[in-house]
Formats: sequence, structure tokens, C-alpha cells
Amino acid sequence: MPNRNWGLCKDCKWWQLEPEASVESLTLGLCIEEGLQEFRLRVSGNSGCNRFMSGKPARAKGSGEAPPTAKAVR
Ligand code: SF4
Repeated sequence: MPNRNWGLCKDCKWWQLEPEASVESLTLGLCIEEGLQEFRLRVSGNSGCNRFMSGKPARAKGSGEAPPTAKAVR
């Protein structure tokens, strides 16, 4: 399987962080990709998948909680 579309959460526009969180490998946030949202995945900057889309992360309070309490902000 080609890795062409695979990328890290810290470089992905579907990664949603706490408002003041820094974009780092160990920072935790919610994945808001449309097909994955229902799973309420809390992922670190070093996590990744093939739904990756390059961009800056979104921001919302509660994104880094366990379980995440934030809604997706796009
Ligand atoms: S799990 Fe995949 S889609 Fe979600 S933020 Fe990480 S790289 Fe992006």
C-alpha cells in the first residue's frame, strides 16, 4: 500500500487542539476528520493516518481531554 497520503497529525488540518496548546509530537488533541469523528480519537502529534491532509490544526477548548469534550470546529 503506498504511503503517499499518510502523514503525521501535527501537520494535519484535521487535528484539533486546546486553544493554547503548542504543536508538538507529544501534544494530545482530537481528530476531526469527517469519517473518524464518530470515534472521538484523541491522538498525539506523532500519530498519523492515511486520511491526512496538510494544514494547520483547529483549536477548541476540551480537545485534549480524555475523552475529548470539544465539538469539531472547521
Ligand atoms: S488521525 Fe489522521 S486525519 Fe486525524 S488528525 Fe491524525 S493524520 Fe489527521
